[in-house]
Amino acid sequence: MSKKIAIIGAGVSGVNLASRLSSNGFEVTVFEKARGPGGRASSRRFSDGDKTYTIDHGAQYIDVETKEFQTLINELEQAGIVDKFTKLGTQNTYVPVPAMNAFTKYLMSNINSKYEVQVHHVIKKDDLNFLYDDKGNRLGGFDLVISTAPPKQTAELFRGYEKFEFLSKVEMKVHFAVMLISSKNFDFGFSEMNVQDSMLNWIGINSQKPKRDKTLGIILHTNFKWSLENAEMDRVEITNLALKELEIQTGFKDENPIYLACHRWLYGRTLEPLNTDFIFDKENSLACCGDYMLGDNIEAAFLSSSRLADQLIKNSY
Ligand SMILES: Cc1cc2nc3c(=O)[nH]c(=O)nc-3n(C[C@H](O)[C@H](O)[C@H](O)COP(=O)(O)OP(=O)(O)OC[C@H]3O[C@@H](n4cnc5c(N)ncnc54)[C@H](O)[C@@H]3O)c2cc1C
Repeated sequence: MSKKIAIIGAGVSGVNLASRLSSNGFEVTVFEKARGPGGRASSRRFSDGDKTYTIDHGAQYIDVETKEFQTLINELEQAGIVDKFTKLGTQNTYVPVPAMNAFTKYLMSNINSKYEVQVHHVIKKDDLNFLYDDKGNRLGGFDLVISTAPPKQTAELFRGYEKFEFLSKVEMKVHFAVMLISSKNFDFGFSEMNVQDSMLNWIGINSQKPKRDKTLGIILHTNFKWSLENAEMDRVEITNLALKELEIQTGFKDENPIYLACHRWLYGRTLEPLNTDFIFDKENSLACCGDYMLGDNIEAAFLSSSRLADQLIKNSY
């Protein structure tokens, strides 16, 4: 009988793991608290009348360094899911089209998934691990439960299990993303810009990425130091400060945008990778993987989840 595996999280790590395991005969169910896949590599959707706008508010680009990741990216390119992108300072960059979450959506097709379900804890009974939500509802019993949530959230999910306890001390960098959609035409003269000596560290023009809607879309990312010092600041205040900074840096101003929002990525980017591929507690049938194991980007999430998939497939779990 095939092994039943629960994967918590449908970010890059979770969907890559799910895709690899299900195509190798495991019975996989993915639980994701958000409305769809993507995690930190996702896109915000906004409808105004008949028109829907999409803007990438977390990860912006996929940089590829390893042969292994390149193989998947080539498959995605052939399927029309990513386009090669020329960007200053990088050699091998891709952008999912028509939005960042196209990448995870593609890998999730045909995978059993439960969205808008937040797993709260895990209890082992006999040979199975049972997942529960915060109201105590049982979400199912599994031979193995894998968390791809950021480290502190994984420690919380697997509380009481010694191997995962130290993850509660693994810090991630907080970041804010301010998103603006404007009916104005404005020539920025760049598709993205790194910013120095400012609360912002990056300004990106979403509408200049391949196969995006041409309505002007701007993303502003705050720098780590500023974000940490102002992690609890009111979002409206952050938005106003970021817009002022945008005007100073570029001259652009829109007092009546189509859409304006601020998202806080509480566990945004890895501070220090753990330099281990994944954690596997065979005795308790629990495991975890994610970008923070090996790096701070999509490729690190792919590699960590691939290493765990390799081990489970090789040993038939
Ligand atoms: C602002 C920003 C910009 C970035 N830019 C880039 C970039 O340009 N290029 C790049 O390569 N990388 C970039 N990154 C990093 C990249 O987004 C991440 O490395 C990668 O997406 C991590 O994937 P993951 O699957 O490991 O984790 P996540 O994407 O965090 O996935 C974890 C998932 O678990 C879900 N989850 C958590 N707890 C529960 C629970 N209890 N129950 C159910 N679901 C749960 C979450 O909702 C989430 O979907 C950026 C990140 C940020 C924040």
